[in-house]
Amino acid sequence: MLPAAAVKYDLIVKGGRVIDPSRKDPSRKLDAMRDVAIADGRIVAVKANISADAAETIDARGKLVVPGLIDIHTHVTRTKDGAALCLADGVTGLIDAGSQGADHIGDAIAVAKSAPQQCRVLINIGRAGIIPEGDTMDLARADVAAAREAIAGNREMIAGVKARLSRDVAGPNDFEVLKRAQEVASSFQLPVMIHMGQTVSPLPKLVALLKPGDIVTHMFAPPPNSIIDDDGHILPAVMAARRRGVLFDLGNGRTGHLRWDMAERVLQAGFLPDTFSTDWTPEGRTAQIIDFPNVMSKFLMLGMPLDQVVACATVNASRAFPVFHNRGTLKVGAPADIAVLELREGTFEFVDNFQNKRTGRQRLFPSVTVLAGKRVAAVA
Ligand SMILES: [Zn+2]
Repeated sequence: MLPAAAVKYDLIVKGGRVIDPSRKDPSRKLDAMRDVAIADGRIVAVKANISADAAETIDARGKLVVPGLIDIHTHVTRTKDGAALCLADGVTGLIDAGSQGADHIGDAIAVAKSAPQQCRVLINIGRAGIIPEGDTMDLARADVAAAREAIAGNREMIAGVKARLSRDVAGPNDFEVLKRAQEVASSFQLPVMIHMGQTVSPLPKLVALLKPGDIVTHMFAPPPNSIIDDDGHILPAVMAARRRGVLFDLGNGRTGHLRWDMAERVLQAGFLPDTFSTDWTPEGRTAQIIDFPNVMSKFLMLGMPLDQVVACATVNASRAFPVFHNRGTLKVGAPADIAVLELREGTFEFVDNFQNKRTGRQRLFPSVTVLAGKRVAAVA
């Protein structure tokens, strides 16, 4: 038998604070100084002081080592280099949420296929995709047959159906649009993601159409038709949706979706997000979104514990789409997708979608990303 020191790994991420909220037994959740060893693209050991040789070592001392981040609401397919930019931010799994509908789904899929990390798309039920006059303001654009045909031709790349339901997107058609999105999704056993907030129809009427595994994005959208009433109670229809397995997602975005006082009230009511997502666009890189770790930091500021913040961006997100099965974890045997982040203390300003500023004392910064066992980028 060879001595342990002769064992050769491809990569060791050494000396970091490893946070892995993926373990089912809460008492075994990992938050400790550990080394992570990788061979053949997989995690092969998570232990203190792994001393064996490795082809490469990443010095993670003073940093956090977490599962690769999974962002389930982005618009990365709008730009060729979007996925690579997100990868440098620690994002090793991506969903483009409805940038395109049936008419141009091929464009979004081509970009998704060229992404370095796993990237899938949600098809917009509006066949023209996101358009200035409102995706489904003309109800004829919510074309069930066209969407079904697009999915049938691209089963492995289309992970669900997106229905944007705000009054400036769907107008009075919101309920019928969502019904049609479900018709499409149900025939392929796919989830629907709804974009809530500022709808014409009351939210309970819309939420009633959601099935287990569907996703509500923009969960902190202010009235009209938010998830909380004026007395600070989460709507019964929203509670019922969560009980039957509907997921609630942040969807940070830049306009109309996130307001600090709403987020505070919802968190105070004990209704924590299942997942974080950025609603990433190229423009978002310079304002409000910046990067996924910045979006996560807003919830440290709002008082969520670090391990829960990490869970929302990793293991919880991995459960939303089968393509991410076995991701969002640092378990031995899992694909070695890892985000090394820096948690800096200081004074950091965060801005909501209404230009309200808040100051936090911690901010996560991207440092190094490992994708399928390989170091992909160092961010200056
Ligand atoms: Zn979006």
